[in-house]
Amino acid sequence: MALAASEIRERFLRFFESRGHRRVASSSLVPESDPTLLFTNAGMVQFKRVFLGEESRDYSTATTSQKCMRVSGKHNDLENVGRTPRHHTFFEMLGNFSFGDYFKERAIEYAWELVTGELAIPADRLVATVFLDDDEAHDIWRERIGLPAQRVLRLGESENFWSMGDTGPCGPCSEIHVDFGVNPACASASCDPSCDCGRWLEIWNLVFMQFDRDASGARTPLPKPSIDTGAGLERLAAVIQSVPSNYDTDLFAPILARAQEISGVARGGDTERDVSLNVVADHARALTFLIGDGVLPSNEGRGYVLRRILRRAARHGVLLGVERPFLHSVADAVIDAMSPAYPELAERRAFITDRIQREEKRFLETLTVGLSLLEDQIGELEAKGADTLPGEVVFKLYDTYGFPVDLTADILVGRGKSIDRPGFERAMGVQRARARAAWKGSGDERVDAIYGRLAADLRSDFLGYDALETSTSLRAILCGGELRESAREGDEVELVVDETPFYAESGGQVGDRGWLETATGRVAIHDTQRPTGELVVHRGRVVQGEIRADDAAELRVDAEARAATVRNHSGTHLLHAALRCVIGPQAMQKGSLVAPDRLRFDFTHDAPLVRDEIDRIEDLANRWIETNAPAQVREMPYADAIEAGAIAIFEEKYGDRVRVISFGEFSTELCGGTHAGSTGEIGLLKIVSESGIASGVRRIEALTGMGALAHLREQQRTLDRVAELLKSPVGDLPTRIEKLIEERKAAEAELERMRAVQRGAASADLSGSAREVGGVRLVATRVEGVGAKELRSMVDDLRGRLGSGIVLLAAVDGERVSLALGVTSDLTRRFKAGDLVREIADVVGGKGGGRPDFAQAGGNDASKLDEAFARLAQLVAAG
Ligand code: ATP
Ligand code: MG
Repeated sequence: MALAASEIRERFLRFFESRGHRRVASSSLVPESDPTLLFTNAGMVQFKRVFLGEESRDYSTATTSQKCMRVSGKHNDLENVGRTPRHHTFFEMLGNFSFGDYFKERAIEYAWELVTGELAIPADRLVATVFLDDDEAHDIWRERIGLPAQRVLRLGESENFWSMGDTGPCGPCSEIHVDFGVNPACASASCDPSCDCGRWLEIWNLVFMQFDRDASGARTPLPKPSIDTGAGLERLAAVIQSVPSNYDTDLFAPILARAQEISGVARGGDTERDVSLNVVADHARALTFLIGDGVLPSNEGRGYVLRRILRRAARHGVLLGVERPFLHSVADAVIDAMSPAYPELAERRAFITDRIQREEKRFLETLTVGLSLLEDQIGELEAKGADTLPGEVVFKLYDTYGFPVDLTADILVGRGKSIDRPGFERAMGVQRARARAAWKGSGDERVDAIYGRLAADLRSDFLGYDALETSTSLRAILCGGELRESAREGDEVELVVDETPFYAESGGQVGDRGWLETATGRVAIHDTQRPTGELVVHRGRVVQGEIRADDAAELRVDAEARAATVRNHSGTHLLHAALRCVIGPQAMQKGSLVAPDRLRFDFTHDAPLVRDEIDRIEDLANRWIETNAPAQVREMPYADAIEAGAIAIFEEKYGDRVRVISFGEFSTELCGGTHAGSTGEIGLLKIVSESGIASGVRRIEALTGMGALAHLREQQRTLDRVAELLKSPVGDLPTRIEKLIEERKAAEAELERMRAVQRGAASADLSGSAREVGGVRLVATRVEGVGAKELRSMVDDLRGRLGSGIVLLAAVDGERVSLALGVTSDLTRRFKAGDLVREIADVVGGKGGGRPDFAQAGGNDASKLDEAFARLAQLVAAG
């Protein structure tokens, strides 16, 4: 039986206790006397003044299990949570501390003895890292511990140098990592513990506080060097219990069990649902411990962080299909599981769960209004017998109620229906156009002047390469072309903030969309632009409440749309590279559009691409996708980039330093856009059209990922329908259809032959029915089932048979009459077909005309036909 996490915690603390360390209780998540820090984020926080020599205690060594939160500031792991197997918002950090007592050697020896002895982690799976020039630590690992050289690695400052702040105590670190073996998907040539590929798991960090750094950056040795260490309990438990992620440990089992029970969703099925379950479990721990330590939901500071965590958890609850407040119940499970170690939780149980429930209920109200709207719409669909939810409705849910499109799609799929995604994108486009029009209509100059002034002391830092959410402050609100202090529901606004994860349209990639939320209002952002160099402007509409300048704001990019855009952007690079391989480097990019739902690429080429070229381009691009080559992003001087073979787009302006994106050896481009982490994320690239847009310029449109799949599926559906109609397997369709065309031709020929025979027989009959009127042979009769065209050939035929005479045939269709009249050439001096037909047509209420030997007419009173025949006889007799 593997060790339970509670046992690991206890063994850790006892190990150090029995070596003279004082067991000190965890301090609160709210740091007592450190206003610079939102939350306790490491074990050393409660000892900071002791390390600085400002406070002394009656012990010189200590050990703790410290409650930590990493959701803000320097250590912000929030975005990763739920997606990586090893990052939490709330976690427990086990540590031992020496305040000027023992130093490196003892610290390393203790750590090794505890990890490999007490906790029995196999020594051959561990590696140690040390700071570049820390020979002392290196030698301890090599000589005292006996690790082989290849398992003691030297890493640089970003990994292995720690400092308390810009000045003050600092020093090198040494970390212990578990090596899970080479990850075949890892593309790094020199994969080491600083690599993110999943091969390495950092379990313990030993910090050697050795120097005092002054404002100039100079380091002087501390008189009494100290030790600060931190080991994540959740990670240790995962390794010791041999499970693939922290969420599979016994720390999370009862919490996840509760979440699964309530949602009815089992872990281990769909990845996104697993993420949601993880998020719920992680956040429930954070909420429980935060409220337990006295933090309450509010609109600023710690309370606001708490509120965000709760909303994030609630949203994932909705994704799991839970439609009522439930986090309080998951929190109950957290309290059951954790109160043996943290008895304060059990004492405050009612308070904690009550607060969570109230806050979640409040938040769900918006969602509930949205859900009931959706219910009504589904009802309407059902009444109409339709099964596609119109794009505008999907858009309204998205825009006003913040429903991610996938959530709506998911709910509909559950009801055997679907959403009109292209319709949604169209509605989005209309809104985007409206946002643009509102901007133009306000008088560009005035707005430009405002932005010019704002840009003088404001710049919006772009964080969106790494983050999709951020907390920042709202710095400017423009509405109707002027700066405003506030804006309210319904207002079209342009917003400037300090820091933004929103990508502003450029280089063909459309601006991000998403939401901005303050304590009092919410804005749906439809477009992001950069009107002047450094200023990012978010355009959207206030969909709820009111927003005010200088409010704290939460920005959230629509992650789904961004991911789709990213796939299309990287797809465009592969398409570009493949195109150049297939038709040559003269295929210069003339423009591109990268949106969530499609990509478009214009290039110079003087002939249409042939099928074979298109196939080869697709093959190449998809082969590169298969290799799952990671994106490499570098910044370098422009000249170096061109030297390195990067494709620069003609006519585009570049600064001195450029951003270069490459995938493997095959694609290197200057690009400021957002990209997939590796080509595999693109999934599939499918060209859907190729056309000419100007002389010498061609355009390719393509789809990637699920979009490509949806397209192929649609085509498949059409084929299947055809196969069903023809009762033939899809593979046989071409032959089947060719055969059908043949058969149809033969049938038509046969039909024509039959008709000719029939006409012949009919004509023969009719010629026999000729009578003499005033010495002229006359045939005047109605014929059945004959069209106007055949009427003519019958008249011709009858004229031949009569030799000399006049023929009038009438075809009746309801009240309508078609007349055809022929006069043999010997009689055309006396009788003009055109004149005769006009008179007759008059009788049946119509008009007509023609040549002397042949004429046609139509009428709409079939009941007068006999009268018409009599009239003809009269005319002939009179002639
Ligand atoms: P990583 O690079 O994996 O994010 P880190 O370098 O930020 O880790 P430290 O600041 O050295 O980690 O923290 C000490 C220990 O705390 C780590 O070795 C790890 O075991 C644990 N730890 C750090 N961040 C988290 C987190 N977000 N969730 C769970 N455990 C964590
Ligand atoms: Mg970290």
